[in-house]
Amino acid sequence: MSTKRDSSSIIDKEEPQIIEEIIVKPNGDTVKKRYLRGRLLGAGGFAMVHEFLCIDTKQLCAGKIVSKNNLKRARSRQKLMFEIKIHRSLHHTNIVAFERFFEDSESLYILLELCSNQTLSELIRRRKRLTELEIQCYLAQIISALKYLHSHKIIHRDIKLGNLFLSDKMEIKLGDFGLATKLEFDGERKRTVCGTPNYIAPEILESKHGHSYEVDLWCIGVLIYTLSIGVPPFEAVDIKTTYKKIKMTSYSFPKNVRISEELQDLISKLLVSNPLVRLTLDEIIQHPFMGRNPIPKFIPSSTLAVPPSNS
Ligand code: ADP
Repeated sequence: MSTKRDSSSIIDKEEPQIIEEIIVKPNGDTVKKRYLRGRLLGAGGFAMVHEFLCIDTKQLCAGKIVSKNNLKRARSRQKLMFEIKIHRSLHHTNIVAFERFFEDSESLYILLELCSNQTLSELIRRRKRLTELEIQCYLAQIISALKYLHSHKIIHRDIKLGNLFLSDKMEIKLGDFGLATKLEFDGERKRTVCGTPNYIAPEILESKHGHSYEVDLWCIGVLIYTLSIGVPPFEAVDIKTTYKKIKMTSYSFPKNVRISEELQDLISKLLVSNPLVRLTLDEIIQHPFMGRNPIPKFIPSSTLAVPPSNS
């Protein structure tokens, strides 16, 4: 029996496609903006991400395509629209820039700044661990993005290797606002249990008193441990054991990896169970780990494959 192949799925997977954005002007006239959908950059839970070339301006960006089939539940669409609302309000060098949002009959399109050097997740997969100079440089940029977010009452709640992109100039760009939330008033506590298992803060797991900005600082502790050691601090055979270790702050520094006392001290002051005792963003900047030498503004792109030569 011969089977007929579905031609639309072939186009979806392989061929460049023209995508049109219809813009309605204030006087009611419409203009079309055309994009060439290029190579696949990655796939997420809900979206396929492709390179998009704006045919008029020749600008390249990352186009997140979310099929409307995935948004049939009102709650899914609401969540995505909230993510878009938060992300499009943000303007900071170390946050993935939100370019445009539009939809057609089949999909929603979110156009984002293109980060051509992937994420810290792929970097760690290739390099295994980073030097302390690299960690200082990336951490300074992450802190800058987080200071901006927190000053706008936004908690990211999903700081992790895979959400920290690298631009063509090797700048850090924080992305993915799918779990972000905005506080309505000072002192508000959030109660949604969310996050990525290895990075989730103990106060989210305990869920007695709710959580606030400090969850992002816990994630920074997990992140810099992972960047320096090569594996996350609470990694275990299953999620249940990971959560148990997080609740007991049970982690250690392996003897076979060289890591400075300053960095160990910084990590141990971030991976603190009581959020009120955990270091703040300003305290990280003032910590001896960040102050012991001049921090380079950029790390060369050769470090995508090999450690910096001066390490
Ligand atoms: P998820 O949050 O589920 O990982 P995303 O939809 O945010 O999924 O992204 C999926 C993948 O697409 C990412 O892992 C990455 O490889 C790629 N990607 C996402 N955004 C960008 C971007 N701005 N620039 C380059 N690649 C991107």
